[in-house]
Amino acid sequence: MISILLVEDNLADAHLLTRFLAKVDREKFNLTKVESKQAAIRELIEHPFQVILLDLSLPDSQGLNTVVEVHQVAGKTPIVVLTGLNDQQVAMAALREGAQDYLVKGEISPDSLVRSLNYAIERQQILDKLQEVNLQLSRSNKELEQFAYVVSHDLQQPLQSILGFSQLLMYKYGETLDHQGKHYLEHIVAASHRMRQLTKDLLIYAQIGKSIEAIEISDCNQIIEIVKSNLETIILPNKVTVEYQDLPQVKVNKGPLVQLFQNLMENSIKYSRKEVKTAIKITATPKNNSWLFAVKDNGMGIASEDCKCIFEMFKRLAEAKSLPGTGIGLAICQKIVEYHGGEIWVESQINQGSTFYFTLPGYGSSRTTTSNS
Ligand code: ADP
Repeated sequence: MISILLVEDNLADAHLLTRFLAKVDREKFNLTKVESKQAAIRELIEHPFQVILLDLSLPDSQGLNTVVEVHQVAGKTPIVVLTGLNDQQVAMAALREGAQDYLVKGEISPDSLVRSLNYAIERQQILDKLQEVNLQLSRSNKELEQFAYVVSHDLQQPLQSILGFSQLLMYKYGETLDHQGKHYLEHIVAASHRMRQLTKDLLIYAQIGKSIEAIEISDCNQIIEIVKSNLETIILPNKVTVEYQDLPQVKVNKGPLVQLFQNLMENSIKYSRKEVKTAIKITATPKNNSWLFAVKDNGMGIASEDCKCIFEMFKRLAEAKSLPGTGIGLAICQKIVEYHGGEIWVESQINQGSTFYFTLPGYGSSRTTTSNS
């Protein structure tokens, strides 16, 4: 039995709909009729219904407002709107306000009425399930982030102790240890350093999006200069060139923006080819309301089958294993970009180089005229 609330003040229309339902299956539908919005709201508060058939022009409410107010009280009960022949636009707006379907008076048949009611009920059930899954997903995402934060934060202290005492041991008693003893101790120190870097990177990852600071406007030319100075100790000795020109301003805070460019540029230097000097080129082109950035290098490149997976947490390619790193850098980049509503991907050719593309929300269409290399 399907319980229907019919909200219709025109007695002839109400009678016709009742007859249509009876024609299809008298036993299947339990119809409650009311003639005003207030009466509908009263019914909805007092009784559960599976679907509402709602006329938009009632004595106490006209047009879209009727849907909005009834929807507020009806919650998850699906609404099928009844409209006149010329109300197609209002019907579309009603769908945007939460109605599941609409029927045009004068064109309704018993079959189309029942189909629309069943469709509305089924669609609402699917929507409810989807919302439930989304809720569970965002809850477990939050828990995971909280877990990553606590683990990475709380591990720092004991790790620092292991590192400190191992170094003290080496410093005070190193001479008394034999070759093997020294070797073991060196391993402990190296592993502790690596773990410290891992927990630091994990903490950065877990903290993205947690800042309560308002989002400010940043000038990307200044950001590149900051990154260049942060990476000075690897840029200068390796004679790396960094080329950029007239980069725009974006709606991203300085901290994450520096992190993003720095991770990409550091990788360009780290995964370079021995036989060529590293050249990094950064460009930006407008794309809809955002900017499409490209950070291009002439390094070792990435095989096409790996271009997606390198953004996964802890993923490192075979060529990288001999070089320092935690495999979290690109996951951090992806989280920063996606937090700002953008996308990140890479196009690359082995032994030619890689270009990392990402989009960020712009600020007007302004570019700042600066160039550097
Ligand atoms: P990490 O550099 O710490 O290993 P990332 O998440 O920054 O971690 O990078 C993941 C992997 O992607 C690297 O280990 C490397 O194999 C590959 N990679 C990243 N950037 C480049 C690049 N510019 N050129 C070639 N390979 C790269």
